[in-house]
Amino acid sequence: MSTLSSAVTPKLAEIIAIGSELLTPQRVDTNSLIITQNLNLVGVEVFTKQVIGDDRERLTDAIQRALGRADIVVLIGGLGPTEDDLTRDAAAAALGRKLEHSAEQEAILAARFRSINRPMAQNNLRQTYLIDGAEALPNPNGTAPGQFVVTPRGALALLPGPPRELKPMVERELIPRLKPLLPPQVIKVRSFRITGIGESDLDTLIAPVYSKYTNPVTTVLSAIGDLWVHLRAQGNSEAEVDALLKEVGDPIAELLGDRVYSTDGEDTLELTVGRLLRERSATVATAESCTGGMIAARLTDAAGSSDYFVAGYVTYTDQQKNAILGVPQELLDKHTAVSEPVALAMAEAAQRLSGATYGVATTGYAGPGGGTEAEPVGTMYLAIAGPKGATRCSRIRHGADRYRNRTLATQFTLDLLRKSLLGTIHPKPL
Ligand code: AMP
Ligand code: MG
Repeated sequence: MSTLSSAVTPKLAEIIAIGSELLTPQRVDTNSLIITQNLNLVGVEVFTKQVIGDDRERLTDAIQRALGRADIVVLIGGLGPTEDDLTRDAAAAALGRKLEHSAEQEAILAARFRSINRPMAQNNLRQTYLIDGAEALPNPNGTAPGQFVVTPRGALALLPGPPRELKPMVERELIPRLKPLLPPQVIKVRSFRITGIGESDLDTLIAPVYSKYTNPVTTVLSAIGDLWVHLRAQGNSEAEVDALLKEVGDPIAELLGDRVYSTDGEDTLELTVGRLLRERSATVATAESCTGGMIAARLTDAAGSSDYFVAGYVTYTDQQKNAILGVPQELLDKHTAVSEPVALAMAEAAQRLSGATYGVATTGYAGPGGGTEAEPVGTMYLAIAGPKGATRCSRIRHGADRYRNRTLATQFTLDLLRKSLLGTIHPKPL
């Protein structure tokens, strides 16, 4: 157990997402994730969340109960101008307060409609009513202001449903108003993004370190071929929190080694690869078969990628692997397109034709059908041709799920390039 920990008891929040559409199979509540992330960063734990349809009684009841057990209650949605937008009414009823027309909000709304040259409908006036004692939260991206009210039963926030309206309001309006109500504390996150290891292997590797601590809180998130480890520490001072993150994070970093491709939690694998290429004044070209251009798409996702991305060739048939890339027909006939010699020939061709420093290539049976006895469905070859004729190929096999296979091939090829650039794997001379 850490000797440094002095965590304060966290404040507890409850989130209520409102809207009948969120109870259908077509829509999912994503706003609560944004809110949770921001609350966690100021030390507030979300201990429950729920979705309620557009029903006045159920909603009033839910808000009342939430105020009885949470320090902070956040309501999402139902702030529109129509009859089914009931959040204002229900929140006022739950608090036993009146809704009052705000001349200021009406002026703001009228100005907004003037600026977009549209007449304001009568029902928009519903959006100018504030709960007695509430402060309006400006919404620069929409017509519904949010509301914030501190009551003896806790703080209550009302936020609009559209994610592009809600997100900036959480960061700029809600969190700054909550902070003064929270115990003074410092919270910091240290995160690692990792590829090239499965989730359970990762956990087996690092659990002996992090499981000894409740502060920092460690979470592992996984996507296809992509893992995140987050450490969130809280304490009374910056120095204390930094020491906790170091005490737990450094041994984890050591165990993970070059599997970590980003330590700020934000950089994607393709951004990391792009940065490494740029730092070395190196360039890359792709020759893709089973990934159909996915590697090129990811490498060109960032603005300014023309600094390091030269060309992408998508050659799907054997005939085009020969015609465009010049992969010898004999090689294709002898080994088939899904083979190490062909993958290497494709990578070398991408490099040679484009003049790039590196050529990378993919070829394989993405599934769900296809494959041979020797090379069953899911077999994929990932190749890299580096400077001075050095090459490397790896073979992966992950079952018959097409989306998963293509995503993994893309991810691991980018990672092959990353590790070559770092010099932690060494392409072999031919
Ligand atoms: P409302 O504020 O209820 O009028 O919702 C406006 C839009 O935001 C609708 O398209 C909703 O589906 C969407 N929306 C509402 N609540 C959420 C939520 N919790 N997560 C994601 N989208 C939402
Ligand atoms: Mg709604």
